[in-house]
Amino acid sequence: MHTKTLLELSHALHAREISSVELTRYFLDRIARYDDQLNSFITVTEQLALSQATAADAQLQAGTAGQLCGIPLAHKDIFCTSGVKTSCGSRMLDNFIAPYDATVVEKIRDAGMVTLGKTNMDEFAMGSSNETSYYGAVKNPWDTQAVPGGSSGGSAAALAARLAPIATGTDTGGSIRQPAALCGLTGLKPTYGLVSRYGMIAFASSLDQGGPIAHNAEDAALLMGAMAGFDPRDSTSLERPVENYTAHLNDSIAGLKVGLPKEYFSDGLDPEVGKVIDVAIKELEKAGATLHEIRLPNTDLAVPVYYIIAPAECSSNLSRFDGVRYGYRCKNPVDLIDLYKRSRGEGFGSEVKRRIMIGTYALSAGYYDAYYLKAQQIRRLISEDFKQAFQQVDVILGPTSPTVAFNIGEKVDDPVTMYLSDIYTIAVNLAGLPAMSIPAGFVKQRPVGMQLIGNYLQESKLLNVAHQYQQVTDWHKQIPTPFA
Ligand code: GLN
Repeated sequence: MHTKTLLELSHALHAREISSVELTRYFLDRIARYDDQLNSFITVTEQLALSQATAADAQLQAGTAGQLCGIPLAHKDIFCTSGVKTSCGSRMLDNFIAPYDATVVEKIRDAGMVTLGKTNMDEFAMGSSNETSYYGAVKNPWDTQAVPGGSSGGSAAALAARLAPIATGTDTGGSIRQPAALCGLTGLKPTYGLVSRYGMIAFASSLDQGGPIAHNAEDAALLMGAMAGFDPRDSTSLERPVENYTAHLNDSIAGLKVGLPKEYFSDGLDPEVGKVIDVAIKELEKAGATLHEIRLPNTDLAVPVYYIIAPAECSSNLSRFDGVRYGYRCKNPVDLIDLYKRSRGEGFGSEVKRRIMIGTYALSAGYYDAYYLKAQQIRRLISEDFKQAFQQVDVILGPTSPTVAFNIGEKVDDPVTMYLSDIYTIAVNLAGLPAMSIPAGFVKQRPVGMQLIGNYLQESKLLNVAHQYQQVTDWHKQIPTPFA
């Protein structure tokens, strides 16, 4: 069961070869058996899962079930789930039971899918290794010495070990694509505004976007169809009908113009990763794609700009965690100021505090023009680079991450090195573009991800290219031996 695609599971459920309750129990059993080694779940929602599965079975029986009905999934613990702990990987929300569902959770529930649990993540989605979680590091199923990437590392590890058929993630600077790359998965970060942010705990509101992490492009397309859609409760939600993301999977990619940015194949890239990407590019060429060298001249500025804008927005978003309204409260405060200081001091971990301090500084009077305003201006230049590029090519291709998964502990004390893990992913968020990571091979038994970047609302095109690539390769079908 754990090697089946979503369509195969859907057929099995509709043909009554297996019930949703049986399928759900199967994955709950795998979680119970394997997750001690990985720490990929913060909460397993066994009772909820079984009751949702029972309801799905009734729909399947009655013939009213949709395509995804009865299929289990895992949600990143950043999405509010009614009646279930929603921690965002933080001590601050360790006691928070969400009183409502995020729009994404609601839509997926309405599609009849079954929630297995909430996955581990970097605290407030700040990180690239899942080591900043209050609930401890997550291990990469390909090598438990290695990080799974972050911040959606729990979703990625759970999927790589086949503890769930599919999962949700969020991507502010790479948090869907980078863990997908490091764990050998297919992740899609949609165009900004396509997936509602309502009930998705905010990190940097102008960059955050939810999306699927999956075993292959077809599965990602199916879940994307359930996640996307206009939401009046999110003022940045795009008002447009939901596409059928599977409609173009089988289109030919002959004549597709693929742009290779010079800046994505230069100094910082591990040469072994570069070789894997070169082989993948040849595969697309064989399918009829043409290659074009392009320039994204402001690439070097993406990380510094992001580390002004993201902390600025997070310092504002996280001011709501004050020990009064909800979340962690310190013991025996002597007065209100002491309550604020100690609740925030004890509730947040050091990476979150670092970002709040950077953001508060960048936004403070006297520094706003020099940092925040300047960063916004460069952000525009970065978007312009992509605009130019998409006048020449249909998609942009490169590595997702400059290296394969690094070891737990290797970069945790060196924030700047850690921040460079996202050098190829961050510009996409600054521009609000869609992008994917798909498995393209291995270096020393650790997975390599290839990134595809599209123009605005070109998710179907990206999924098409990824699906065509996955018809002629089987990197996405590999399972780490201990979990096979
Ligand atoms: N790794 C980046 C950061 O630490 C991106 C995180 C994300 O996309 N949520 O901010």
